[in-house]
Amino acid sequence: MFTQAIKVENLTKSYKDNHVLKEVSFTVPKGKIFALLGSNGAGKTTIIKIMATLLRPDGGSIEICGCDVVKQPEQVRACISLTGQFAAVDELLTGRENLWIIGELRHLPDKNKQGEKLLELFRLTTAADKPVSTYSGGMRRRLDIAMSMMGQSPVVFLDEPTSGLDPQNRLAMWEIIQSMAANGTTVFLTTQYLDEAEYLADHIVVLHEGVIIADGTSEELKEKIPQGIIQIQFRNELELAKALELLSEYASYGGDREYTLDIQTDGGAMQFADILNRLNQSNVEMVRFAPKQPTLEDAFLTLIGEKKGG
Ligand code: ADP
Repeated sequence: MFTQAIKVENLTKSYKDNHVLKEVSFTVPKGKIFALLGSNGAGKTTIIKIMATLLRPDGGSIEICGCDVVKQPEQVRACISLTGQFAAVDELLTGRENLWIIGELRHLPDKNKQGEKLLELFRLTTAADKPVSTYSGGMRRRLDIAMSMMGQSPVVFLDEPTSGLDPQNRLAMWEIIQSMAANGTTVFLTTQYLDEAEYLADHIVVLHEGVIIADGTSEELKEKIPQGIIQIQFRNELELAKALELLSEYASYGGDREYTLDIQTDGGAMQFADILNRLNQSNVEMVRFAPKQPTLEDAFLTLIGEKKGG
C-alpha cells in the first residue's frame, strides 16, 4: 500500500530551449492539501499536465496513488481528477444536468445521490435547475470543480482554483477545498497567491525558474519571508531622492506605486521611529506611510537572496 498520494522525483521538462522544470522533487501525503506556488510562467500548469498524464516528462519519475504516470497512465487517470482554469461546463444544460452527464459517462451507480451531495457542498442547490448560461463566474467555477469530483477521485488537481474570483467566492472556494480534504481527498493546488497557500495548505512548495526554492509548512515558509517592510510614498521624485539618501543604512527597493520605497526593517518600534524622525527632521514630504504585507515577490527576493548567498 502506498503512503504518498503523489511522489515526484527529479522531474525535468523543456519546451525546446526553454528549460521549464529542472529536477523538481516533492511528495504529497494522502488526504492533505498541498500548494504549488509560483509566479506566472513558473511551470505550475506544466507540472499538473505531466501528473495528469496529458504531457510526457523528459526525465524523472512520478507516481500517483502508487502508479507510474508514464508506464501506467490508465491507472493514474482512474485515481485523479483535474480541473483547469477554464470551465468545461455545458452552457445550455442546468447545473444538475451537467453533473448527471458526468456521472453517466463515468458509469457511476449512485450518480443522482453524488450529484445532490455536490450541489449542496458547492452551494448550488437553489440554482441547480437553472441553465448554466445564467450562472455567475463563481458559480461556474464551483460547478466545474463539482463536476471533476463526480466519482470521488482520491487525488484532485486544482489549477489556480480562485483566479478571477471575487473575494466572497474566493472564500467560498477555500471552504470547499477544506471540506474536500476533510473528506479524505488529497488536494494538489497551484496558486499565485501567498495568502491562499498560507490559509489552505498543509504543505507548500515554491517553484521559481524551474527549481523548488522553498519547501515546508506555511509557518516554516513565513520565517523566511521578510517581515517589517514599511512602504512610504513620497510627494515627488525629489523627495524620494532625499529619502534614499537619508535612509541609506536601510535596505530598500522601489515599490509598486509612484515615488514609493519599500524599506526593510526589523519590525521593531525603534526602527519605525528612526525612519520617521530622519524624514521629518529634513522635512521630506510623505504622502503615505504604512506597514506592508509581504507579497510573493518579497518572499522570492528573500529566498533567492538566501540561495545566492549559499
Ligand atoms: P504557470 O502555470 O506557472 O503559469 P506554465 O507551466 O503554463 O506556467 O508555463 C511555463 C513556461 O513554459 C512558460 O515559459 C510558458 O511560456 C512555457 N510553455 C507552456 N506551455 C508551452 C507549450 N505548449 N509550448 C511551449 N512553451 C510552453
